[in-house]
Amino acid sequence: MSQLPSAKALQHLVDETFQQFHGLPGGENASYIPYLASVPDELAALVIVTANGDVYQAGDIEYRFAIESISKVATLALLMEDVGPEMVREKIGAEPTGLPFNSVLALCEHHDKPLSPLVNAGAMASVSLLKADSAEQRWQRILDVQRRLTAGNVTLSDEINESEQTTNFHNRGIAWLLYAAGNCFCDPMEACEVYTRQCSTLVTCKDLAVMSATLANHGKNPISGEQVVTPENVAPILAEMTMEGLYDYSGDWAFEVGLPGKSGVGGGLLAVVPGKMGIAAFSPPLDESGNSVRAQRMIAQVAKSLNLNLYG
Ligand code: GLN
Repeated sequence: MSQLPSAKALQHLVDETFQQFHGLPGGENASYIPYLASVPDELAALVIVTANGDVYQAGDIEYRFAIESISKVATLALLMEDVGPEMVREKIGAEPTGLPFNSVLALCEHHDKPLSPLVNAGAMASVSLLKADSAEQRWQRILDVQRRLTAGNVTLSDEINESEQTTNFHNRGIAWLLYAAGNCFCDPMEACEVYTRQCSTLVTCKDLAVMSATLANHGKNPISGEQVVTPENVAPILAEMTMEGLYDYSGDWAFEVGLPGKSGVGGGLLAVVPGKMGIAAFSPPLDESGNSVRAQRMIAQVAKSLNLNLYG
């Protein structure tokens, strides 16, 4: 792998890219979760954290937003520690669904097997498969891994959690379908409730970049120095991200950018450059697949400028 440019050049790239795309028109805040509809849509940030812990950032870097589906990566990492990659593949899967992240049709077409831990069905199945004796323990283990992956002050937002728990009827339906097929491994309403909480934590864009840099650094968090993920588990996590990290846009993202990524409907997006860096961007307006419009453009630009495409 080629060397990275100087610190000055990297900060310049982050500043320029942010300036170019932070006001890009297009997309809309997620509205099916009431809280997300109310987040100011002009917010934006871009952060690089290298595998040795150097940080380059621009924009609304203090703003804390809902992690949403990016939490699925943290729970997947924890589940891999608990049961190993092969069990994840057997019970949940490692294929793209080609359908929206909350698709019931995707389940119906595959005997109610989720196919991916990065869609809602597979994420709830992942929560249910974690080693835990109670809902509270399940939740605390997830919050703990979010904190260890980000080395950040990740906390639950009661406001977002309330907003999601009182409107998550579709996800409850999915949890019951999983349970009926034997693919939910705890009480389905516990799986849905804890999954909803894991989506309702607050993170900064830097938190996401550190999480991504941890995966880039073979599972060792470059800020805290902690080995959070067993090195052998990193490649299957990145494979799952490649297949489904941006939902039904994952193929296009691989085609254009060539980096494993993960988005959330809170407007966050991260991409992993193995051995080199984590890149994260944030801005609330989403495209039709539920991926942040501006975050995609910012990360694509950084990847292109630095020649980071893994297939390149
Ligand atoms: N909490 C959201 C949901 O379950 C997360 C979805 C997402 O970020 N794609 O629908």
